[in-house]
Amino acid sequence: MKIAIHNNKKPNTLKAVNYLYKNLKQSGFSFDVEHPDIVITVGGDGTLLSAFHHYADQLDRIRFVGVHTGHLGFYTDWRDYELNDLIRALKVDSGQSVAYPLLDVKVTCNDKRPVEHFLCLNESTIKRLGSTLRSNVYIKGKLFESFRGDGLCVSTPTGSTAYSKSLGGAVLQPSLEALQITEMASINNRVYRTLSSPIIVSSDEYITFRPSVAEDYVLTIDHIALNDRQVKQIDYRIADERIRFASYRHMNFWHRVEGAFIGSQDDEDGDR
Ligand code: NAP
Repeated sequence: MKIAIHNNKKPNTLKAVNYLYKNLKQSGFSFDVEHPDIVITVGGDGTLLSAFHHYADQLDRIRFVGVHTGHLGFYTDWRDYELNDLIRALKVDSGQSVAYPLLDVKVTCNDKRPVEHFLCLNESTIKRLGSTLRSNVYIKGKLFESFRGDGLCVSTPTGSTAYSKSLGGAVLQPSLEALQITEMASINNRVYRTLSSPIIVSSDEYITFRPSVAEDYVLTIDHIALNDRQVKQIDYRIADERIRFASYRHMNFWHRVEGAFIGSQDDEDGDR
């Protein structure tokens, strides 16, 4: 099994990375940053996002494992004080994995730029720099609403705990095959009218935004911002590709959500 380690540069991360290199080598693992079988990310959820984009062209063969050097994350199953447990799990690896849906983003521009495809793990957003964004929103090719406001966000199930949640989106169980649209500050009047609540569409549906002509759009693909495109149309659907995690232990999703956003509480009935 060939391993790559992808990490941020924080001091406690570097300490964990050194420990992993030394002990994985002693346990007989080899390292290959170009074509790994397993990518171990050390840092946070943001570090895993960055690794995902780095290895996005090899998703069919790579499995990811996330180590968090701070609080427990959504893409990170291991804490930095559990590295020996992780190495033990890697030694008895039998190829087990859990896969989650990704977002396919197809961008068509007004200029001669060829149509582009991007994959998102969390979400894609579109905003306008100089003014409000005006865009028609289509679901499965049919006009659904005319949006005017700060911007629009389309997120994956695993991205539902990230930006989408800050925009009032629902938290989705990550294995659901669905996409969610959330609005950023929509203006509602006689001309522009939106549902004004998050919309969740299923895997056989696709979403299209057709913004009014402008040159100052900012399109984001997870943490990556693209601001040089004269966007004509963006199509969103669930991608054929999926991200796979090496699932050495079961982490209950709702327990993670509770830990991240609510914190431990005493149950009045005492049955927690
Ligand atoms: P960042 O601005 O440095 O960090 C964004 C925060 O989002 C970090 O605390 C990160 O956790 C957390 N995060 C990332 N993915 C998550 C997920 N699926 N569920 C819950 N939390 C998640 O940027 P970054 O680390 O490169 O991450 C880019 C992401 O930031 C974008 O994809 C977007 O979702 C998010 N974002 C959020 C807002 C907002 O909520 N207002 C605005 C812009 C972007 P860690 O600390 O564990 O890395």
